[in-house]
Amino acid sequence: MSAPWLPPGSVIGIVGGGQLGRMIALAAARLGYRCHVLTPEVDAPAIQVTNLSTIAAYDDPEALRRFAASVDVVTIEFENLPVAPLAELARVRPVHPSPEILAICQDRLQEKAFLQRIGAPIAAYAEVRDAGGLARAAAMLGDGVLKTVRLGYDGKGQMRVRGQDDPAALWADFRAPQGVLEAFVDFAMEISVITARAPGGELASFVPVENRHRDHILARTVAPARIPDALAADAQALAERIALELSLVGLLAVEMFVTRDGGLLVNELAPRPHNSGHWTIDACATSQFEQLVRAICGLPLGDPGRIADAVMDNILGHDIERWADLLADPSARLHLYGKREVRPGRKLGHVTRLIR
Ligand code: AMP
Repeated sequence: MSAPWLPPGSVIGIVGGGQLGRMIALAAARLGYRCHVLTPEVDAPAIQVTNLSTIAAYDDPEALRRFAASVDVVTIEFENLPVAPLAELARVRPVHPSPEILAICQDRLQEKAFLQRIGAPIAAYAEVRDAGGLARAAAMLGDGVLKTVRLGYDGKGQMRVRGQDDPAALWADFRAPQGVLEAFVDFAMEISVITARAPGGELASFVPVENRHRDHILARTVAPARIPDALAADAQALAERIALELSLVGLLAVEMFVTRDGGLLVNELAPRPHNSGHWTIDACATSQFEQLVRAICGLPLGDPGRIADAVMDNILGHDIERWADLLADPSARLHLYGKREVRPGRKLGHVTRLIR
């Protein structure tokens, strides 16, 4: 039988090379682990900070075989990955989160069916396959948001649907074979909870945080969310129950709406570090990235408690040109991701300010 934990010096395989992989690798290095990054992208943010990398397609069987042989455990840094190659990897190495969890979280219909099955509160929704289906769903649900079933993130693949809109024209613009119409939620606030679950079942959650979006992209996270303590406890309990029901090992981010009557609705799950948890690097005893390393290596989870309240702002697109000003601001902790190409809305870094 293998040891219940992976000691420092072990190699963590990270599938995906973006900023989340970069920050996982930095946290892993602090605890004495090595990381091997698998990404198709040359000069990806994560491979700039590791000396082990494989540049290959995610479904390249030979590259995956060599990658698997060189690592002790595998994690992922974004969920839109092909599941079958990961399932192959999982036959030879532990993969956290499991390919089964990934399959649920990359498909909005599967995710909603799972949440309904466990009794988690979600907005009313209907599956849509054609213009007639959209018309029927809109008649049933009223104003809504039409979303792609797969491959949607940061508001990509989303459309507002209002009562007076022509369903045939909307469907023609949507350009996906299948969609989900969700009832529009007139929320009071958007929050998220990031929870960690260890192989033995131990759970640890960060406080709920408030998320503000600009053009569907996260712009600011305020930690903690300014909500009543009882609601914060409910949000944490809900996230922990979802992690338990998924039999997750690793991290789970649960995005939720706080409704105007003070209830919670789950919007989306992400079984990985989350943009709304970047503040934990500077403001918590244990960051979300360290917590992930601890969970997947079978180490005791760290203290998710916060040292200070914090506000995190994403640095999107041309905001990056302010880097020197941010660096000169003594209250700002600057994190840049090493991306060369500046595109509007692209996440190039973040800045955290501690509130004391
Ligand atoms: P998502 O990609 O599902 O996380 O959606 C991106 C953003 O669109 C959310 O963070 C909300 O600001 C908004 N949004 C998504 N779904 C709804 C909904 N059903 N009602 C109102 N706003 C929504």
